[in-house]
Amino acid sequence: MSAHIATVSFQGIDVLPVDVQCQLSNGLPALTVVGLPDKAVAESRERVRAALQALGLTLPPKRITLNLAPADLQKEGSHFDLPIALALLLAMGILPIEELCRYIALGELGLDGRLAPVSGVLAAAMAAAGSDRGLICPAGQGAEAAWSGTEILAPDSLLGLINHFKGHQILARPVPLLAEDGGPRPDLRDIKGQETAKRALEVAAAGGHNLLMIGPPGSGKSMLAARLPGLLPPLEPAEALSVSMIHSLAGQLGEGRLLQRRPFREPHHSASVAALVGGGQRARPGEISLAHLGVLFLDELPEFQRGALEALRQPLETGRVTVARANAHVTYPARVQLVAAMNPCKCGYLGDARMGCGRAPKCGADYQARISGPLFDRIDLHVAVPAVNPADLSLPPPVETSAAVAARVAGARALQAARYAELAPDRAIRCNAEADGALLEPMLPSTGGARRLLLEAAERLHLSARGYHRVLKVARTLADLAGSDGIGRLHIAEALSYRRIGQGLAMGLADASGDK
Ligand SMILES: [Zn+2]
Repeated sequence: MSAHIATVSFQGIDVLPVDVQCQLSNGLPALTVVGLPDKAVAESRERVRAALQALGLTLPPKRITLNLAPADLQKEGSHFDLPIALALLLAMGILPIEELCRYIALGELGLDGRLAPVSGVLAAAMAAAGSDRGLICPAGQGAEAAWSGTEILAPDSLLGLINHFKGHQILARPVPLLAEDGGPRPDLRDIKGQETAKRALEVAAAGGHNLLMIGPPGSGKSMLAARLPGLLPPLEPAEALSVSMIHSLAGQLGEGRLLQRRPFREPHHSASVAALVGGGQRARPGEISLAHLGVLFLDELPEFQRGALEALRQPLETGRVTVARANAHVTYPARVQLVAAMNPCKCGYLGDARMGCGRAPKCGADYQARISGPLFDRIDLHVAVPAVNPADLSLPPPVETSAAVAARVAGARALQAARYAELAPDRAIRCNAEADGALLEPMLPSTGGARRLLLEAAERLHLSARGYHRVLKVARTLADLAGSDGIGRLHIAEALSYRRIGQGLAMGLADASGDK
């Protein structure tokens, strides 16, 4: 039997098998790694040599060849250290081949032989479970790997692993851990006034709709956005696993614990395209994938780079993002709810000369023009968040809590889940915002008056086909919130009121700047 050990390579969320083979032959002493290694893998030679030396092991004076098969797959990252070291130890007869061939191994080695965390352990563990193998990973990530249910060995050093296989010191089985709950979430009760915006937030949560808030600085747009995750249903176990997998691949799963809460990501407006949608040298997942099954909040929307915003369009439509790289395309899940916020104009206080804006309405038109029509079109709910007036601040705190709103949202979501389980049993559609194609047919309004209102508005507002469908979906959510079977005139009217702002500058920004 030749000395070899299984490990993996990551391509997006796909885990591809890699076999590390080691051969000792006569010739000038040398250690070479072949099989398309990147710089980090090539450097692994030095780390492995030092780690073995720290254990008092010297490499045999032979020609040592390590091959990472298949040869045509680019190998990236430092997680190849451990399998390379293990393949060497197998070739040197220090570890038993029969036992190690039951495992997949990954981990980075320090010069002293300690194992350092690497990204992607959860995905590797799921792949190991799928192929009936165990997983060897660094100690700090045992809790993450344990969720796969397969056998996990999580030593803190190479020595610990050798001792385990020699029977000197058996490694404890790691237990699966959840991330800390993180204390109470921000509550809607903290926000006085802003009833229109709160209603829009509830509708967004109920139907999974994208939301844009327009209002002057200090009106509470960020506070409102931060309260959306608290209105959404809790993560299902399968969802928690897939969200955690992406965070693990990005090297962002804290202490190897599974996430419990829906992600809420708020990248800064200076974020690059790669940071937002993924990419860069290693094609890492971007913010939109880290927000998968949660909320992506973009504050100061027009300040984002145009290219970055345009790159969001496709994933917002498909729930997936494809990152191009030198030799392949990598796809990550990116099913997010977009919440965006912006000031009505560059100065922030459109039309308010006291606050320094004397150029309305051009000031607002210029600012809003930084966002393309197609991106606006993908946002179902546009809502004005006017400046807080002192009268609102002196009111007693609102009685309605996030929990009460979340209960209504859960009711509306249950209706949607039942509907799409019946209409499209083979697709995992959770909410109205995700419905498309033939699923929109049954959404047509139930009364003639409602239908007429929709058609007239579509013409008057020059709604695109996408815009028209989005109005229908929002109306469906409003009907679900009201527990109504059919979509009525009121539902259509309210759904249309959320589209106005993005439709026309003259109409919309006048609304956005004044009290509604
Ligand atoms: Zn202005």
